[in-house]
Amino acid sequence: MQTKYIFVTGGVTSSLGKGIICASLGRLLEDRGLRVTIQKFDPYINVDPGTMNPYEHGEVYVTDDGAETDLDLGHYERFLGVPTSQANNVTTGRVYLEVINKERAGAYLGKTVQVVPHIIDEIKHWMLKLGETGDYDVIFTEIGGTVGDIEGQPYLEAIRQLRYELGARNTLNIHLTLVPYLEAAGEVKTKPTQHSVKTLLSFGLQPDILVCRTDRPLDSDVRRKLALFCNVDGEAVVASQDAESIYEVPLLMREQGLDAITARLLRLDEDFKDRFADAPNMADWMEFVRRLKEPRKKVRVALVGKYVEHQDAYKSINESFILAGAWLGVQVEVQEILSDDISADNVDELLSGVAGVLVAPGFGERGIAGKLEAVRYAREQDIPFFGICLGMQCAVIEFARNVCGWAEAHSTEFDPDTEYPVIDLMEDQKAIAEKGGTMRLGAYRCRLAEGSRAREIYGVDEIKERHRHRYELNNVLRYKLVEHGLVLGGINPTRDLVEIVELPAHRWFVGVQFHPEYRSTVGKPHPLFSSFVEAALERAEETGATSKPKPPRRQKKIHLATSRLLKGDAE
Ligand code: GLN
Repeated sequence: MQTKYIFVTGGVTSSLGKGIICASLGRLLEDRGLRVTIQKFDPYINVDPGTMNPYEHGEVYVTDDGAETDLDLGHYERFLGVPTSQANNVTTGRVYLEVINKERAGAYLGKTVQVVPHIIDEIKHWMLKLGETGDYDVIFTEIGGTVGDIEGQPYLEAIRQLRYELGARNTLNIHLTLVPYLEAAGEVKTKPTQHSVKTLLSFGLQPDILVCRTDRPLDSDVRRKLALFCNVDGEAVVASQDAESIYEVPLLMREQGLDAITARLLRLDEDFKDRFADAPNMADWMEFVRRLKEPRKKVRVALVGKYVEHQDAYKSINESFILAGAWLGVQVEVQEILSDDISADNVDELLSGVAGVLVAPGFGERGIAGKLEAVRYAREQDIPFFGICLGMQCAVIEFARNVCGWAEAHSTEFDPDTEYPVIDLMEDQKAIAEKGGTMRLGAYRCRLAEGSRAREIYGVDEIKERHRHRYELNNVLRYKLVEHGLVLGGINPTRDLVEIVELPAHRWFVGVQFHPEYRSTVGKPHPLFSSFVEAALERAEETGATSKPKPPRRQKKIHLATSRLLKGDAE
């Protein structure tokens, strides 16, 4: 069966939520019975986002196969519930690297290697790659950046060629633009969208559907105008109005028929007759949104990290709290605390009001002292503690210093000469000096220890979780730590590495060397996050610190649509 390709471009500005629109429409098509995946093409020169600072680019999302990817892949996985891989994230850097490697290997047989056709062909090859597996009916390709960017042009040309080759029945272009409201004029403006569509046309691409990001409903005049001047069907002008939660967007898109118009243009009902349902089965999604919108309780936890100023730096952790909280009927208020700000003098003031402490992943020495203070406080005050990657390493360092009494204990990442290197590089890594390509990345097995808290929480004896780090708990010192009461909750069986540490006497104290936050999806919150939120709630109830969730902010008109859908009288 011919795979259908949906190309999603953006106009006017970046940050309009292309990823969320792809994920939302993807979910609707999935709920109508199709097999869907989403890939992101980023026009920057970095080969992957792994070496990019979280301040610049937000979180690096890691897939099972160990690819360091754009955080939009996290949305794709959370919305669709299916894993992505290296093939789902391609950058200009990777495309050029492939072409240059081929050129060096003589694959072009002495020809002059050029953007057209060689780079464009390489892009097309990657655009089609997942489709060729036969595993998917619909492939979304989201193009990073904005139409008109110099670096995005090869991607538009690749789309143009593929549309020409595969035909209108098999390809679709959705263009996401901004329709701003001008206070002074008292009206919404369509001109930026018209210009952006003209730019797209100048590359030979006519959008089929316009998704217009706006802060208010679009009236029929505006829709008509957009349709007429941008040359699209009236019903193919879809408003993406600001929503309180990204998880409402599939409902809003459904209400405006984005899946229906997509189905009509791509003839999905004819071409996938055997499995394409008349309407999406959104029961699970609606149940999730209902729980999300109507929490019964609220609990506050601290997220201690050094990148807290960037709103996307801990994206998957924040989303994991939303997903776990919704499932438990709890609104988790995440209070982000800059680790640099924490000291022995103010830790009580900063953390006494929270019911749980999560110490975040990270690289480099800045903020470590504050993280160690946060661990100590949580351990001593019996506040639920969750350490992820560097957070787990900090828990081990703090334990070594303050429980074992090894005052100088440290990670060799921060003190190469420490007497007690409780966190250290593995012997085989020590010879490697380069930064790229030396990390333990992707999914690894972990056997859970009998009687451990982790085993109880997961309910199985072996798991697979994703990693992204260089340093490990030092196996030479591990038994000494155990003698002092640290429990090793999980071990990687192939390389005998400690993956989980716990303190059994504590109410909830778990550090994990891996990143559970990458595996939370809608309807399937990660068990460690759920268990941590439950423990925080229990602590808050004991100390009288829970509160009723605030009534939702002023309901915007669009949310009436959501609430109608939730009540089940939308059809
Ligand atoms: N910096 C630590 C390491 O490389 C932890 C990395 C992380 O938290 N992802 O091992």
